[in-house]
Amino acid sequence: MPRIVQKYGGTSVGDVERIKKVAERIKGSRDEGNQLVIVVSARAGVTNELIARAKALTAHPQERELDQLLAIGEQETIALTAMALHGIGIPAVSYTGAQAGIFTDKEHTKAKIKTINAKPIEKDLAEGRVVIVAGFQGINEQGQITTLGRGGSDLTAIALAAALKADKCEIYTDVDGVYTADPRVVKTARKLDEISYDEMLELASAGSKVMQSRSVEFAEKYGVIFEVRSSFNHNPGTIVKAEVAYMEQVVVRGVAVDKDQAKVIVSNIRDQPGSAAKVFRALADAGIIVDMIVQNLGSQGVATLTFTVPQGDTHKAVTALAPVLAAIGGEVAVSGEIAKLSVVGVGMKTHSGVAATVFQALADAKINIELISTSEIKISVLIALERADEAARAAHAAFKLEKA
Ligand code: ADP
Ligand code: ASP
Ligand code: MG
Repeated sequence: MPRIVQKYGGTSVGDVERIKKVAERIKGSRDEGNQLVIVVSARAGVTNELIARAKALTAHPQERELDQLLAIGEQETIALTAMALHGIGIPAVSYTGAQAGIFTDKEHTKAKIKTINAKPIEKDLAEGRVVIVAGFQGINEQGQITTLGRGGSDLTAIALAAALKADKCEIYTDVDGVYTADPRVVKTARKLDEISYDEMLELASAGSKVMQSRSVEFAEKYGVIFEVRSSFNHNPGTIVKAEVAYMEQVVVRGVAVDKDQAKVIVSNIRDQPGSAAKVFRALADAGIIVDMIVQNLGSQGVATLTFTVPQGDTHKAVTALAPVLAAIGGEVAVSGEIAKLSVVGVGMKTHSGVAATVFQALADAKINIELISTSEIKISVLIALERADEAARAAHAAFKLEKA
């Protein structure tokens, strides 16, 4: 019997009517003779609402309590999805992350999956039940509920597909697949039939929230081929896998925007060996992921370091830097009014002129570039937040991504 893991995102299970539609879809796939494990997200907006409620009570909620709270979003939808299936005569059982045997490390709010005990799910499948698993959550060795980072239901699905040796993994969402840019922002964006893990990973880590980046990393590591497709129609989606035989020799595959970064400026630090090491050691020890970094040429014995961190980590960053700056001098300032625009494509490895094209497109649109960073297959620039969508359209047009 073919075994399929299907994941339904927040919009797909957004209300009771949509959950009924998802149940019909699941029934259809089961009628075709498939064994099914279903991962669901919280209803669209619920996770954000819960975070807002927490922050209304305390500016920086304890991460353990935040995980306790956020896990209820998915706990609601698993139970409702199971009930919807019962309503149409399908045997189904719902599991929280802990009940599904998803064990994580202890990092609250961004836990990593360590192991999955698939035995209970295997038993249900053998007995003919559809298994519904809460996305985005697990349990750590201390018995505490953890969550896997925003968008983490994707990771739950990919990890279950690997653990259960599923024949297919389908990520159902509210767009037809992976596009050359966010189709809600760039109207001319084109759906890709296939994309390689490497390009999908760069797009995801550059802010294309269609897939959580860690889930793509996991899929690549364990060789999980998956399809991103719409839960609202039956159009074929986008296949994500290792090797993609692209017909066309495209240099740039897609454009992504990340609006969740903040810029941190550490000015007037002593311009001497070890200053940067101390700053970034403190951030690393606080578990903060630093993305773009520039240091200006020092003058009069002082220098300025500018870098970006996830917006949710700015308070942590400032707190972590306080003792360091007390020792080496300097002040810290934070701005959230920035966005990162990235263009991604494996063809960049062997082509020149990609950076020049991006910079020219932005220059023509009179959009100022604050920071630049590159990898083998990605060029990113930091720009003003309010120009981000416009910049995405300009870059998309400059590389003619609307054309196959
Ligand atoms: P879900 O709740 O199903 O996980 P998400 O909101 O997390 O859905 O992700 C789907 C959204 O990702 C789409 O609605 C789209 O606006 C956005 N998106 C951003 N970049 C892309 C892209 N390159 N291709 C497709 N969708 C994208
Ligand atoms: N509900 C979680 C979030 O909003 C996980 C997910 O949707 O994948 O981030
Ligand atoms: Mg998502």
